[in-house]
Amino acid sequence: MATLSNSFAHDSDATAIIVPGSPALTISYKQLSADVSSFQQKLAKLGLTPHAAVSIALPNSYPFIVSFLAASWQRAIAAPLNSAYKQSEFEFYIDDLSSAIVLVPQGQADGPAVKAARKYKSAVAECYWNGKEVVLDVKDAGKLAGKGNQPVEKAQPEDTALVLHTSGTTGRPKAVPLSHRNLTRTMKNIQQTYQLTPADRTMLVMPLFHVHGLLAGFLAPLLSGGSVIVPGAFSASSFWKNFNEYQANWYTAVPTIHQILLKSPPPNPKPNIRFIRSCSSPLSPKTFHELEKIFDAPVLEAYAMTEAAHQMTSNPLPPAKRQPGSVGIGQGVEVKILDQEGKEMPQGSEAEICIRGENVTAGYLNNPEANKSSFTKDGFFRTGDQGKMDQDGYVFITGRIKELINKGGEKISPIELDNQLAQNPSVSEAVSFAIPDEMYGQDIGVAIVVKDGQKLSADDLRNWLKERVAKFKLPKKVYFTDNMPKTATGKIQRRMVAEAMSKQDQ
Ligand code: ATP
Ligand code: MG
Repeated sequence: MATLSNSFAHDSDATAIIVPGSPALTISYKQLSADVSSFQQKLAKLGLTPHAAVSIALPNSYPFIVSFLAASWQRAIAAPLNSAYKQSEFEFYIDDLSSAIVLVPQGQADGPAVKAARKYKSAVAECYWNGKEVVLDVKDAGKLAGKGNQPVEKAQPEDTALVLHTSGTTGRPKAVPLSHRNLTRTMKNIQQTYQLTPADRTMLVMPLFHVHGLLAGFLAPLLSGGSVIVPGAFSASSFWKNFNEYQANWYTAVPTIHQILLKSPPPNPKPNIRFIRSCSSPLSPKTFHELEKIFDAPVLEAYAMTEAAHQMTSNPLPPAKRQPGSVGIGQGVEVKILDQEGKEMPQGSEAEICIRGENVTAGYLNNPEANKSSFTKDGFFRTGDQGKMDQDGYVFITGRIKELINKGGEKISPIELDNQLAQNPSVSEAVSFAIPDEMYGQDIGVAIVVKDGQKLSADDLRNWLKERVAKFKLPKKVYFTDNMPKTATGKIQRRMVAEAMSKQDQ
C-alpha cells in the first residue's frame, strides 16, 4: 500500500538518522519508528483528529523528523514552515490551513510563530529532544481544548500527507496538497533514478520545509534504507568535516550551495562521492564543469516542483549520458512539450513543459481557477516553464513563461542570458529580467555581482557580450550589486531582483 508508513523499514537495526555533534545522535530505523509512534500518542492525546494540519515551524532536526512522520502516518497533514518567517508570514500559512497545532523549538513560546498561532486559536507546543525522547510540551491547547484522547488512525494512500506552498516566484504562494500516493511515487522515482541502496549516506543540506530537502534529501533515502545525516542549517565550514566523519557519499542542493562549496572545496584526501545532485534552479554549464572537476564526481541536474512532489526529470547516472544545461529525462514521469491549446510541438521546438504521473498533486487547495488552467484535458499538468526536448528525450528549460522577456515581440530567455554572462571572467553572479520600456514594452535589465578584486563597467560587459549574442539580446540596463536577492532556499526570484534594482533608478 502506497503510504509513507508502509515505505519504512520499521524493524531494521540499520542507521536511519545521524545528527552530528559530540556525541552524535545515531538513530536506527527501529528507534525512529518507536519515537514516531510515541509522538503520535501524544498528539492524539492532545486531541489531534484525522486530516487536521500540524504546522511544523522547526529547523532541520530530529524533532522535525519525528513530528513530520508522526503527523503524516496518523492521517493528519504535516505542514512544515520556515522557522525564520516573520509573524505576518506565519499568519498567512497558519490561517490558510486552519492549523490545529503549531510546533516550535524549545524556548520560543513568545516567538512570531506562536503569536500567529494564538491569533488563529491553533494549539501551541514546544518540541525538542531531551536525550531520551522527543518532547511535546503543550503551552496552549487552543482549539484542541476539551477534544483530547483521539484514536491514532492509519493513513490511506489517497489521504493528504503534506501541504506545502509553492515558492511564490511568480506570484502569491499556492497551497499544494500531496497525498501519500504522490509522495511515495516520487520517493520510488528518486530511488530508481540514483539507484539508492541501504549502503548510501546523504548529507542533508536543504531545508525540510520545501520538497527538495524533504523528498530528495530525506524521504527517498529513508525509503531506500540508507542513512541521512542531519546537521541543522547548512554551513560551508563544517560541510566536508561532517561529510568525511559520517561517511556520506552523495548530497543534493541548489546551485547556490554548490557555488558556496566550490569556494571551500573538499580537503585531501577527497571523499568518495558517488554523485552530486543539483535541482530547483538552473545550474550553469560552467558550474557543472567546475563541480565535476573539483569534486571528482558526476553531477546530475534534476528538475522539480512542489506540485510534482518534487522530481520530474533528472540526468541519469553514468554510463548513461548526462548533459550540462539539460535537466535530463523524465524519471517515472511523462513529459510533453505542449502549446497553449494543448497540442504537442514538433521535437526541438519550444513551448510549455507539461507532465503527468502518480506524483502530481490532484490540485491546489481552494484555488479552482488555477486548477482549471493548470491541467490539460488528458490530465497533463502545465508547469509554467518554457522548454524543449531533444531526440533522446533530454529536456532543456529556457525560462518561465511568466518571466520570458518580451522585447517588442522578440522573446528572450533570461536563463540563456544568465548562462552567457556567468562566463565573463569578472562576473560572479548574473540575473537577467524584464524592465518596462516605452518603445518595446519590455527591454532587458541585468543585475551583476562582480567577483572580489575585479573591475567591470556596463560598457565592458556589453562589449564582451556583443561578441556572443545577437544585438537584440544586449541589456539596456546593467545594475551592479553586492547582494543578489534570493529566497530562503537560495532561489532567484527575477521579479524581486527587478524590483530591488529599480531602486537604483530613483
Ligand atoms: P511559484 O509557483 O509560486 O511561482 P516556484 O515555481 O518557484 O513558485 P517551486 O515549486 O519551489 O515554486 O519551484 C518550481 C520551479 O523551479 C519550476 O517550475 C522551475 O521553474 C524551477 N526549477 C526547478 N528545477 C529547476 C532546474 N533544474 N533548472 C531551472 N529551473 C528549475
Ligand atoms: Mg511554480
